[in-house]
Amino acid sequence: MKKRRRIYEGKAKILYEGPEPGTLVQFFKDDATAYNKKMHEIMDGKGVLNNRISEHIFKQMNRIGIPNHFIKRLNMREQLIKEVEIIPVEVVVRNIAAGTICDRLGLTEGEVLPRSIIEFFYKKDELNDPLVSEEHVTAFGWASPQEIDDMMALAIRVNDFLSGLFLGIGVQLVDFKLEFGRHVEDDMVRIIVADEISPDSCRLWDINTREKMDKDRFRKSLGGMIEAYREIATRLGLMQEMEPTRGSGPVLVASNDGKNVGKQESGDKENGDKGK
Ligand code: UDP
Repeated sequence: MKKRRRIYEGKAKILYEGPEPGTLVQFFKDDATAYNKKMHEIMDGKGVLNNRISEHIFKQMNRIGIPNHFIKRLNMREQLIKEVEIIPVEVVVRNIAAGTICDRLGLTEGEVLPRSIIEFFYKKDELNDPLVSEEHVTAFGWASPQEIDDMMALAIRVNDFLSGLFLGIGVQLVDFKLEFGRHVEDDMVRIIVADEISPDSCRLWDINTREKMDKDRFRKSLGGMIEAYREIATRLGLMQEMEPTRGSGPVLVASNDGKNVGKQESGDKENGDKGK
């Protein structure tokens, strides 16, 4: 078999050249890292869960017109994506105080912020991804003022969509990180959402117990990281396909308009949302 060309290897994913020009294959690894790789462990099955959760979110975003790089899931660990030029800025949206903003501004974890706050971080491992302002982003040419506007508008849309999606499964979206890329479409350059959206890049708390269901379980050595990711996938209704042998009885399936329409053997196709 012909060996694929590896384009880039990051902490949690590998990018390979895709089957068509302008496409790439994104492979999800099991590596969990934190604090710029000071913590590093292999978490069996994390890549499979993140691939599936991220697929679900990006697919739904495509359906509601939030432009993104996702084309289709290829297998348990890989998805086909559009090739973009990544903007070297991480865009963080926060709804509730947690993580670095608490130390920086003396906030208490769990405080509801006066409004959603967007922050930019320069993607530079050697510098530990420092917080930067719009001034830095434009002055150093990482993105133009128009591109910043586009990223902020998309970040707000993603926040509204994701907050609702997670609220519907009893999970509070505390904060999350987005990456954007420039994509050429019909000779026009457009900013689209890239990378992944998963419990690796979001803070997710159970609405009732406030239990952490994201990478903070690893960062804070709380244990139960994979179980938490699996719980997110389960609540999103994604586990039937991932564990086809589990269970045997009939389960209710939903039609596209969300109404329960009939019964289907467990392990069968889920809700018309199967990777092509
Ligand atoms: N985040 C991320 N990758 C990073 C840094 C942050 O996905 O390299 C996410 C993180 O999971 C959280 C949000 O961005 O959901 C805000 O992170 P924060 O600035 O609090 O930093 P952290 O505590 O994650 O180092």
